[in-house]
Amino acid sequence: MNLELSDADRAFQAEVRDFVRSSLPPELAERNRRHMHLAKQDYVTWHRLLNKRGWGAPNWPKEFGGTDWNPVQRYIFDEECAIADAPPLVPFGISMVGPVIYTFGTPAQKAHYLPRILSMEDWWCQGYSEPGSGSDLASLRTRAESDGDDYIVTGHKIWTTQAHFADMMFCLVRTDAQAKPQEGISFLLIDMKTPGITVRPIISIDEGHGVNEVFLDGVRVPKANRIGQEGKGWTYAKFLLGNERTTIAEVSTSKQRLRRLKTIARAEMAQGASLLEDPAFRDKVAAVEIELLALEYTNLRVLAAETAGKGVGPEASMLKIRGSEIQQTITELVCEALGYYAAPFEHAPEGSNLAPLGPDYAQGRMESFLYNRATTIYGGSNEIQRNIIAKMVLGL
Ligand SMILES: Cc1cc2nc3c(=O)[nH]c(=O)nc-3n(C[C@H](O)[C@H](O)[C@H](O)COP(=O)(O)OP(=O)(O)OC[C@H]3O[C@@H](n4cnc5c(N)ncnc54)[C@H](O)[C@@H]3O)c2cc1C
Repeated sequence: MNLELSDADRAFQAEVRDFVRSSLPPELAERNRRHMHLAKQDYVTWHRLLNKRGWGAPNWPKEFGGTDWNPVQRYIFDEECAIADAPPLVPFGISMVGPVIYTFGTPAQKAHYLPRILSMEDWWCQGYSEPGSGSDLASLRTRAESDGDDYIVTGHKIWTTQAHFADMMFCLVRTDAQAKPQEGISFLLIDMKTPGITVRPIISIDEGHGVNEVFLDGVRVPKANRIGQEGKGWTYAKFLLGNERTTIAEVSTSKQRLRRLKTIARAEMAQGASLLEDPAFRDKVAAVEIELLALEYTNLRVLAAETAGKGVGPEASMLKIRGSEIQQTITELVCEALGYYAAPFEHAPEGSNLAPLGPDYAQGRMESFLYNRATTIYGGSNEIQRNIIAKMVLGL
């Protein structure tokens, strides 16, 4: 979509473009473009460059170190970063727990944690899901027992993305086993270096290590690390999930992948003509492009409502469903366009002189396809999002 930009927005776009082009390390952009598994330092490097420029938290109000950008400016920023193949901003601090802390935290929590999120001194992870408590999150069993000024936390979290990088985990725990499931939950901020925490890797279908199991065995957590009131954790958890579902839509990333899909389809040949000229394939590309355009407008509407102080409602579920399905469709079409060249999906190890198989643009596409199977699961599965829409939006 080409928004009709005002002169001021065009000037802002040029400013962002110049900064991203001149500051993003080319080798980092290249690794991200090839869907290589990025190291912790890659994300930290890019985040710190942005933060030095004052852009580390595009979604935060200025009083907490954010930008106060309006939806169009945020849209422009996302677009320019995606076009340059910049790594995504790590969402756990900036998009997830940061807004919870500045909305519901104590002055001491705000003063301590927010600057550390901005500087990336603390890498956060999300300790919500447990074995048996994913969709039915309110059934979670990790318990926090009161012990003077502390809680003693014992339980088992699973699918904890980048827990192996994390300094801190925001965690849902049960503080009252007698209350109704949603009412006995509290929201704790846990230092990952506390004795009793063990992180074990889960290797995913793309052979990457992004997710983990986290075991908590008698972990002592100060009550000062609880967000808001005891037993009200479900309220803060839902606030956070609303924000998570809007960022998961990843419109700008999908637009960049769609551009790349077209480049590949232009280069690949089918019966003497480029694949993009093949009517059947072109129809599929057009269909996903139309869906993406519709998602983009919806995303802007939700961003505008959020900026107007209306908060993110259950409509965020719509963005999550369509955004995740579009991501999957584009990665499927890329593999379809590549044919055999999509099949090998192991990168040559660092420093080896193994030649990659197939054209350069085939690198990393199978990993991306495989990993994207998870988009309709994480952040709350799409079936659950449909249930939310049925109940909260359609009143069924
Ligand atoms: C790559 C990845 C990263 C993740 N990262 C994190 C993270 O960082 N932190 C974290 O806390 N969690 C994380 N998760 C967990 C994720 O939120 C859960 O996997 C998700 O909520 C589904 O829960 P589950 O896996 O327990 O599946 P289940 O809840 O067991 O669901 C299994 C299937 O049944 C369907 N289903 C369940 N209940 C219903 C219903 N009532 N109606 C219709 N269908 C239903 C589901 O849609 C799904 O298809 C991650 C997951 C993945 C795959």
